[in-house]
Amino acid sequence: MSKSVISYQSGPFATVSMGLPGDHEGKTATRVYFVRGTEKLALIDSGLLGGLPALEQAFEDLNIPRSSLDLLLLTHEHMDHVGNNGWLKAETGCTILGHEGRADRVADNMLNAKAIVHAFPEGEHFDLNAEYLDWMGPEEGPIEEFIKDGDVIDLGGGVELEVVEVLGHSMGEVGFFERSTKTLIIADPLLPPFNPVLYLYEDPNVMRATFDKIEAFLAERDVQAVLFAHDDVKTAAETQELVDDCRARVAKVEASMVTHMKANPGISFGDLRDKCCDDQDMVREWRALVSIDASLKDFVAKGMAEQRDGGWHYVGCSASPRGAGIRHHGRADCSLAGSWRGRRHPMGAARRNSGPGAGALRGGV
Ligand SMILES: [Zn+2]
Repeated sequence: MSKSVISYQSGPFATVSMGLPGDHEGKTATRVYFVRGTEKLALIDSGLLGGLPALEQAFEDLNIPRSSLDLLLLTHEHMDHVGNNGWLKAETGCTILGHEGRADRVADNMLNAKAIVHAFPEGEHFDLNAEYLDWMGPEEGPIEEFIKDGDVIDLGGGVELEVVEVLGHSMGEVGFFERSTKTLIIADPLLPPFNPVLYLYEDPNVMRATFDKIEAFLAERDVQAVLFAHDDVKTAAETQELVDDCRARVAKVEASMVTHMKANPGISFGDLRDKCCDDQDMVREWRALVSIDASLKDFVAKGMAEQRDGGWHYVGCSASPRGAGIRHHGRADCSLAGSWRGRRHPMGAARRNSGPGAGALRGGV
């Protein structure tokens, strides 16, 4: 192989890019990162099985004997980030570190797949192999040591990786801040706008809190560069724009949900997913069920929606205006749901957004 598989190299970092199959083909790649100190060598995430040839090639291109990999640091449990754990463990003898929150899924590929692809009856027609299991090697590489927010992994020579908990997309996700270069490495809390699937979040409030946390971190820690799993390296200013865009996309999901519950009282969970995906021109697939379910639970908690006779009804209080640029710190926007009932509300999130979802929302109020 003459062409290097190393897509980015700077300071202690070397990036290996792996193309993604299925709906993502030609649109998104997963990146894994070698981080080299004077004492230890770490790899952040193991990527997907389809990227194993690239990973093998990277060891050669970087002149790294496989046995010199000390640590595999996992961002989260999804199949495109842990797919080569077993291979790396067997080939290198590395120690695998990750967040405790999803250690059970990392240790069990079938559990990992079923817990998300088949989390709901509406997703059960999706093929577990094609959607998830085929992305991972046959052997799992379980987490051996847990890491949590604020932990520091010293690789030697001043290269230190500080663990930054970034929950919401997964409830067991971390990023890493390399202190000597002020570089933040994060996987999926900030998803690129060209992602072909609806924004995946397990808890909308936790997701929004993580957007706030990343925004604050960029400024407070004087972040110089951000390395992403599915996007090109960005400056702090570019990352701030992405944070705003991510906030807007999550707000747009919820605005679509309100629109369609109002327009179609008793709408089914599956139809709500389809319409929200259509509003953003996204593929109607299993990830979206997770996000729609998470926001429905939040709407119920806020008294905005309820489930009756198997369908979903909007019962009061508007989707809060959580669009771009608006920060909410624990504000209970819908705590007065009863007093808002039946009134027209300023649909801030919808006005700030453009596109079919926003238009439909205005028409549906
Ligand atoms: Zn993910």
